[in-house]
Amino acid sequence: MKIAYISSEVVPFAKTGGLADVAGALPKALKEIGHDVRVFMPRYKKVVPAKTLPDSQVPVYFYENQNYFGSREDLYQVKGIDFPDNLERFAAFCQWVLKFIKDLDWKPDIIHCNDWQSALVIAYLKIIYKDDPFFKRTATVFSVHNMGYLGLFPKNKLPLTGLGWDQFKPEGLEFWDNIALAKAGYVYSDVINTVSETYAREIQTAEYGCGLDGLLRARAKDVYGIINGLDYEVWNPATDKSLPRRFSAATLTLRAENKTALQKLNNLPQKHEIPVIGMITRLADQKGFDILAGALDEIMKTGCQLVILGTGEPKYHDLLSKARQKYPAQIGANLKFDAILAEIIYAGSDLFLMPSRYEPCGLGQLISFKYGAVPIVRKTGGLADTVHDFDTKTGEGEGFVFEEYSSKALLAAVKRAVETFHKKTIWKALQEKIMQLDYSWDFSAKKYVSLYMKALAKIGISAL
Ligand code: ADP
Repeated sequence: MKIAYISSEVVPFAKTGGLADVAGALPKALKEIGHDVRVFMPRYKKVVPAKTLPDSQVPVYFYENQNYFGSREDLYQVKGIDFPDNLERFAAFCQWVLKFIKDLDWKPDIIHCNDWQSALVIAYLKIIYKDDPFFKRTATVFSVHNMGYLGLFPKNKLPLTGLGWDQFKPEGLEFWDNIALAKAGYVYSDVINTVSETYAREIQTAEYGCGLDGLLRARAKDVYGIINGLDYEVWNPATDKSLPRRFSAATLTLRAENKTALQKLNNLPQKHEIPVIGMITRLADQKGFDILAGALDEIMKTGCQLVILGTGEPKYHDLLSKARQKYPAQIGANLKFDAILAEIIYAGSDLFLMPSRYEPCGLGQLISFKYGAVPIVRKTGGLADTVHDFDTKTGEGEGFVFEEYSSKALLAAVKRAVETFHKKTIWKALQEKIMQLDYSWDFSAKKYVSLYMKALAKIGISAL
């Protein structure tokens, strides 16, 4: 199958979030199972271009535009403020993609776009290139990595997309008297995909749908969810050079040295019988800090330690600094981005907390599995699909799950987790089990191939 993979960010060239990780890994996994996949992205100022994705034969094509991309340090904004010409920038990128594919004389079976930045490719294909024989047998897939980002712009910018005013309608790009570029994907793609099955269902509800739940319900038959994989060449405690002590499920006792190091780094008492709860996250509303704040005093009464690594909204920096002052012997607050400390937290914590309000897929819980930290999660999105509540009697489940978005429900899950931590035999079996779970990309890549077949079926192609 020939697959054009379009993304505004791709690891290792440019990254602001999870999309970049997926775009750097999924094409490689597709290539490894025999597909001709090629990646298309803009060349930002900091990008050091290469012909292929590292350690692979996947070609990467960069859109060169000095004014729109080549002269900008960051991808979408400067000092927290969006570039005023983001619509023009990404419309130019999307126009280039289709022209360039034609110039290559390479006819893709699938064009796979991601989030609002590349959504216009799909609208151009279905409107401007509608009668072009070159793309007659090309189907489209639109993946949404976080429904919260719609690509909103004032309506007077619509002509700058190259599309006509006939698109200014609810069943086109219009969104409450503005335009939402993501709608170019939601409306015109052959299939829509998100990064977990539960999130695929959630975005069809008013609570999670960001105003597009009606549209998604109308297209319910075309909406799918595929969980993201994890690159185990990067995330592996047996080979991780950042760890004070490497370990695997077979050498679990060595893990304790990482816990001691983590406690020491955070000036916390270095005691093995005290459970350490780790948390690594953007400090954003999405991640559940309001319910954590409400439960904090009670959580501290369980006697656990809490080590947080994160950066983001100032109100949460404030909250966590104050919590550290109040509980200096129990809380570590590392308010920064630090990839090495992150690995030590995954390897040294007993538990890993993700009380998210919503979570399209979530990577933290998958990493924590591999590093033997048992997750405590809210039952939402990808967390609901990957972590099931642990049953001490049957041994079923992979972590501690709570459903209601409340401090009370969070606290109850933490208490169950701490109680289970003290049952040493059960705990060790649970750690060994989660470390052996397999969320590698090859599994999800095969699911993408069947999704591509569904997209092709929508345009009347049943076999290649
Ligand atoms: P999201 O994509 O919503 O930020 P995920 O759980 O999917 O959440 O992915 C977050 C990733 O970023 C994880 O790999 C996590 O370890 C990493 N991360 C988040 N904050 C930090 C930080 N302050 N320092 C180091 N790594 C971080």
